[in-house]
Amino acid sequence: MTERDRGGFATRQVHVGADAAHATPRALPIHLTAGFTFDSFDDAAAHFGVGDGFGYTRTGNPTVEAVERKLASLEGGAEALLVASGQAAVAVALLGLVEAGTHIVSSTHIYEGTRGLLVDNLARLGIETTFVDDIGDPDAWRRAIRPETRVLLGESIANARNDVLDVAAIAAVGDEVGIPLVVDNTFATPYLLRPLEHGAAIVVHSASKFLSGHGSVLGGVVIDDGRFDVGRTGHLFPHLARGGTDGSASLWDRHGGRARIAYLRESVAPRYGPTPSPLTAFFVGQGIETLSLRVERQSRNALAVAEWLSARAEVESVDYAGLPTHPTHDLANTYLHGGYGSVFTVTLRGGLTAARAFVEELSVITHMTHLGDVRSLVLHPGSTSHARRSAAERTAHGVHPGTLRLSIGIEEVDDLIADLARGLEAAVSVVSTDVAVVA
Ligand SMILES: *Cc1c(COP(=O)(O)O)cnc(C)c1O
Repeated sequence: MTERDRGGFATRQVHVGADAAHATPRALPIHLTAGFTFDSFDDAAAHFGVGDGFGYTRTGNPTVEAVERKLASLEGGAEALLVASGQAAVAVALLGLVEAGTHIVSSTHIYEGTRGLLVDNLARLGIETTFVDDIGDPDAWRRAIRPETRVLLGESIANARNDVLDVAAIAAVGDEVGIPLVVDNTFATPYLLRPLEHGAAIVVHSASKFLSGHGSVLGGVVIDDGRFDVGRTGHLFPHLARGGTDGSASLWDRHGGRARIAYLRESVAPRYGPTPSPLTAFFVGQGIETLSLRVERQSRNALAVAEWLSARAEVESVDYAGLPTHPTHDLANTYLHGGYGSVFTVTLRGGLTAARAFVEELSVITHMTHLGDVRSLVLHPGSTSHARRSAAERTAHGVHPGTLRLSIGIEEVDDLIADLARGLEAAVSVVSTDVAVVA
């Protein structure tokens, strides 16, 4: 640890991980190599025995490791594991905790891909999920917990209603029975919120979003607090607490409080195989170096845009935790520091017709399914990400026919507002034409 590594957030985002470990790639750096040469016969045996050094990129790579250290530092965690996508991060984090016959309690306000993982893929493996709708009520979480429950899952800022999770309260509910809270922190980023500081045990991210910011690569990360307590919770996680049938030491014996993430690194990620490319890791690392600057600017732009939209007659509602009218604005003030994030929804009067005209008129704001980019983006969730939900479910999730999701970028805010003004004008003109036709 040097002074640089102990510095503030912006210092660490640039410096931690800059001194990548030494290894001898068969190909040239960016350590873009399938494997590493062993210096000696004994080194090869030590690598396979106690895991010393680097051998094969699926089990470790210096470029990847450098980015992992940066992310662990920024989230205030003990250790990070980089994987190939945000979906892989969620899947790997959960597969390290659950097995057939166990149970997950999840917020119902989660990314649709994560929901699919829970209700389809994990359900087929014999892992059931109970969804909590009123995520602000700790008792709702408590009531959903069963003896087989092994994990609580939520998102720091949820799409589409923009609800901020009361991380400390929900982590405390899990703590009562020794169950870790996993928080998907993609929307907040560690610059605005570090869930591990509020009692969450594990954080996951889609690094494809804000962490990269350039929208050029996919990536994901799992960050663990390193505070697994075998005495309190070892009975719930025997795969971490017990040694092998061959008499080998347990993960707890070998890694102590880091047993959970050691299991992900040694067993889950290399076997299921969502290995990040070292080239991708490099691009994610490049992105992170400007994270604080981007998120600060994006959040400032988003607040200005949300305030502007909420004052317009064409707008029915704006769901942004940064606005005092939002139901979780107080939680946002408690948990988010430096801004309120830049992804939120706006619902237009005039429903689907208005939404379609609005999206098609925008030109500064790009129409695509992504978020956290330096560019501002727009998507109509009702006909895309949430199209397979029933109308009642969509309504419960704050996705109405006139709802659009915005991810505000770093552009000049005046240009964004001018673009949105043109969009609203187009929405109004098509809706009034509609009315005229019907009349
Ligand atoms: C995008 C996203 C994911 C999935 O990440 P990918 O990198 O696209 O696989 C998971 N959670 C949230 C909140 C996301 O926005």
